[in-house]
Amino acid sequence: MKPFSGNFTQQEALDDTVIAAATEILKSGRLHRYNSEPGEVSKASELERAYAAYQGARYCLACASGGYAMAIALRASGLQHGETVLSNGFTLAPVPGAIAAAGGKPLLVEITEDLVIDLQDLEHKAKTSGARFLLLSNMRGHLCDMERLGSIVRQNNLILIEDCAHTMGAAWNGRKSGNFGLAGCFSTQTYKHLNSGEGGLLTSDDPDFMARAIILSGSYMLYERHGAAPAADVFERIRLETPNMSGRMDNLRAAILLPQLARLEDSIDRWNERYRAVDEALRGATGVVLRNRPDEERYVGSSIQFSLRGLSPAAAQAFVAANKALGVELKWFGDENPVGFTSNHHSWRYVEQQALPETDRVLSSLFDMRLPLTFSVEDCRHVASIIVHCASQLE
Ligand SMILES: *Cc1c(COP(=O)(O)O)cnc(C)c1O
Repeated sequence: MKPFSGNFTQQEALDDTVIAAATEILKSGRLHRYNSEPGEVSKASELERAYAAYQGARYCLACASGGYAMAIALRASGLQHGETVLSNGFTLAPVPGAIAAAGGKPLLVEITEDLVIDLQDLEHKAKTSGARFLLLSNMRGHLCDMERLGSIVRQNNLILIEDCAHTMGAAWNGRKSGNFGLAGCFSTQTYKHLNSGEGGLLTSDDPDFMARAIILSGSYMLYERHGAAPAADVFERIRLETPNMSGRMDNLRAAILLPQLARLEDSIDRWNERYRAVDEALRGATGVVLRNRPDEERYVGSSIQFSLRGLSPAAAQAFVAANKALGVELKWFGDENPVGFTSNHHSWRYVEQQALPETDRVLSSLFDMRLPLTFSVEDCRHVASIIVHCASQLE
């Protein structure tokens, strides 16, 4: 077996249009989003307009990170200290972290074999807890049945905030992920679908919510200089009762995101080409179980997940090591210790520990792999052949 030598954390280099945009803003010296000349629209505002248009949302706020977007979304939606927030039992650490930052108490909901929130458990926990908030994490880009989710949200008067860190550009029945509830939260961190190192985007159609979010982000009362914001009179109602929790995006990051956003659809096509190549190759392997993507879902295949049922923890670790020895970096979410980006709910000790037997069962056999665009489709086939080989060596 020929080892693979690609780097799983290497994103594409940023091209000359991005470098030119960065150079222009650096030469101006006006990096702060409110440091604009009279009549000038700052890059941060321009990005907010462009992203609102892409998303089909009325309002957009550019901010410091995806996790920050979620935390201020919870605050702006009226979360009180100590209040319960329903969220997926399988997600990444910034999600329970955002709930903690906003003073909430996570109530974790089981996931299904398809890696999405278990709607039955959600309904049950919504009813029995009386929670008002659901921070739905579309973890690893998998969307649940969004119509059924919508009816559970309505019946239980839940306020829905979507974590779309892995679903920027995805849709359910033609409706973009992030547009199903009060707000959508996106990340422009290097490993997501746009790359500004760090960064976040928050979208909503609700004027009061967005006015509070903008003040929270640290607008120094310069909210009229935002690109996709509600009218000034909306701010009048809330401007003095909303704290400044500094977490703005700067013009440099906005400037380098704009040309990338213009090419996002093309990136999605390229991710999906790679995803399908791996998916197809792995379907031939014995014991490997892949997720079927529902027809309603338009996904972004920036990562792929599969299961190998009935593996002991030692065998799972050995499988990861065998792949690694051949250059393939897999993440195993069943590990007791958080490694890299793979923490699971047992390692969120600041959260009241909760029994999630189904989630634990699914995670114990779940493997996950990034598909950076620096890999060619041929690379992806090579990687898949190594996984197939390692799977065939098991037992
Ligand atoms: C990365 C990520 C976030 C948060 O993004 P940051 O910009 O890193 O704060 C939220 N949810 C999930 C599932 C993520 O992977």
